[in-house]
Parts: sequence; structure tokens; C-alpha cells
Amino acid sequence: MNNNNYKLDTKLIHAGIEPDPTTGAIMTPIYQTSTYVQAAPGDHKGYEYARTQNPTRTVLQNALAAIENGQYGLCFGSGMAATDAVIKLLQPGDEVIVSNDLYGGTYRIMTKVFANYGIKFHFISMQDAQDIIPVVNANTKIIWIETPTNPMLNVIDIAACAAIAKAHNLLLVCDNTFASPYLQTPLDLGADIVLHSATKYLGGHSDVVHGALIVNDASLDERLRFIQNSCGAVPGPHDCWLVLRGIKTLHVRMQRHCENGEAVARYLKAHPKVGKVLWTGFEEHPNHDVARKQMRGFGGMISFTLKNDSIEDAIAVLSKTKLFALAESLGGVESLIGHPATMTHASIPREERVKNGLVDSLIRLSVGIEAIEDLIADLEQAIG
Ligand SMILES: *Cc1c(COP(=O)(O)O)cnc(C)c1O
Repeated sequence: MNNNNYKLDTKLIHAGIEPDPTTGAIMTPIYQTSTYVQAAPGDHKGYEYARTQNPTRTVLQNALAAIENGQYGLCFGSGMAATDAVIKLLQPGDEVIVSNDLYGGTYRIMTKVFANYGIKFHFISMQDAQDIIPVVNANTKIIWIETPTNPMLNVIDIAACAAIAKAHNLLLVCDNTFASPYLQTPLDLGADIVLHSATKYLGGHSDVVHGALIVNDASLDERLRFIQNSCGAVPGPHDCWLVLRGIKTLHVRMQRHCENGEAVARYLKAHPKVGKVLWTGFEEHPNHDVARKQMRGFGGMISFTLKNDSIEDAIAVLSKTKLFALAESLGGVESLIGHPATMTHASIPREERVKNGLVDSLIRLSVGIEAIEDLIADLEQAIG
């Protein structure tokens, strides 16, 4: 089905999917093959070798394009492999302006891998998109944003960044992992490349590592497809199938993530031992207006601090939760809890992270889709 006029809830289930031509199987088969038989050299059915094309992957790529309101989808073995492919569009001497509140792995690949290849990355706050303009120079090629951000839940104005990118002939890359296309579709707001760690909400069941890019421009798709095939960080067909299965319930999962997220955020805000609660749905959130404008809901990612701001108190909470599992990652059906200062963001010097609000007691929740009463009771007994 390639009809893009359907609503998202329908596209999530049907987009890109056709019954299997040989058997009529309603679910796309896992084409576990490395190569395809040709009738004569060059006489094939569009599939030559499975790094280049795989039918299970093709279906997923088309489905992802449809749900992000894009023309082309490309899948990778992980979110980082997708990130790697985008940066390989660049050449030595090129520069990238990046939002400074960023997924740790993205910061690492930029500063520890691609900086060695002569690409320069400027990390700046983009709370006010106009702050990007003075950093643009003749070598700038990409503006790279992540919104909402991890773990500070800042929101960046995608349309404002897109306008700046367009005016200076730059590409705007938007990591849409946290929001998912259920909450926001950056291509509609002028982004050029949407990036996903499908490991998170798209897969949704904490059972697969996967990445994706979605674009509208045919020549950009061609350049990225060349990198995908040349560098080879492609996903296996079984992983593609798991993501394909996962996205069919994205809308019902996200609806519950949003409901549970709101209930947990309001519960925490009223708790006497809790300091700040960071959740994009609060009116007093510094970028709430932008969130309202560009998002269709506020999601289940919440960070909060304790009034007694100490690592020990935060760890005490983490060690007591029973339903909220202590783990990295996010976006699965089960609730997770994490401590950025000692886990995901431990490599950032204390002074620097505290300056950006990432204080010692900051706890991050990925609120799952369990019964809300049980989740709140779990937090109640853990925070005390
Ligand atoms: C997890 C994550 C990534 C990296 O994706 P992997 O699938 O783990 O390689 C990139 N960006 C964000 C926002 C993430 O949360």
C-alpha cells in the first residue's frame, strides 16, 4: 500500500505492506538470504545481493518513509550507524553546528571519530534558534538537532532551524528518536533528514537495535543509499521484521506513554522530596510554547531532581524501584529508570554537566505502558 493520504494510525499498520506475492502471507516474510538467483547476468527481479537490497528491509524502508511523511527511507544496523552515514556526506574541512544537549553516542562519534577526519563540530545551545546564525560560516554544511533532548527535555524550534538552514543552504538533520512520528514529523517542518534510533519507540519492545533515515530529496536519498551500500552497516532481515512489527502499534503505545507520562509528571511535581520536574507538557517548561506548536503530545520521558541534591539519594531511589528497571535505553513498553550523572553522561566533567542543569540527583524516567497505579505506587515506595 503506497497511499500516503491515510491517517498515521492507518499508515502505521498498512504503509508499504503488500501480501506476499507467492503465498498471500499478510505479514511480510523474513527474507533470510544473502543473494538472489539471476536468470542470466543482469536479468533479476530488482534484488542482486542482500547488503544492497533485501525485500523485508524494502518494506520497512517504505513504511518508515510513509509514517514520517517522507519519500525515502533507509535502514541501518543501529541508530549510530545511521548517524555515521549522515556524517559521511561531509568532507574534511566541513563544519557542523550541533545542539549541545545531545545523545552521548552522537557526541562521541562526532568528537572522537569524525573530528579525526577533519570535520569540525560546534556544540551550542539552540534554545533560541537565532543563536545558530553567528556560528555559520562558509564551511558550514549541516545543522544537527535533537528534540526533545536527553536528559534535560529541552525543546528546539524545528521550523526556525529549518528557515536558517534554508537561508544558508545547509542541511537540517533532526534526530526524532525521543518524539517518534506519532508526536512530531520534522520533514513537515522543513527538516532535510530525519534520523531514528528505532531501538527505542519505533521498535518499542526492547528487543532490537536498529536505525533509520528518512528524506524527501531524491539526490540526497541516492547519496545516502550509496553510503549505506558502500559502508555496509545494514540491518539483518529479522531485525527489520521486528521493527516492522513494532511500528504497527506505535500509536496505541505512544498514546499510553503520553497518558502515563503526564500522570507521573504531575505526581512527581506534588511530591515533597522532589525538586524540579522536567517534562515538555508543563506550561512553565521554558520551551512549552514551541513544544505545543510542533508536537502532538508530550510523551513519556521525564527527568526530575531531588530537593536533597546528592548522588547517594538518587542511587537510593534507583535501587528501590521494582517496576522501573535500572537500565540504559528508553521507549520500550516497560518502564526504565536511569541516573545520567553516573550512567549515560558520566564522561562529561561534573562542572560542565551541572552548568547545563544535569545535577547530581537528576533521575531520568522512560515511563512505560503498565498500569499507572502500579507505576506511581512503585515511585512512592522508592522516593519515600
Ligand atoms: C539511542 C539513541 C541513539 C543511538 O541509537 P542506537 O540504536 O543505540 O545506535 C541516537 N540518538 C538518540 C536520541 C538515542 O536515544
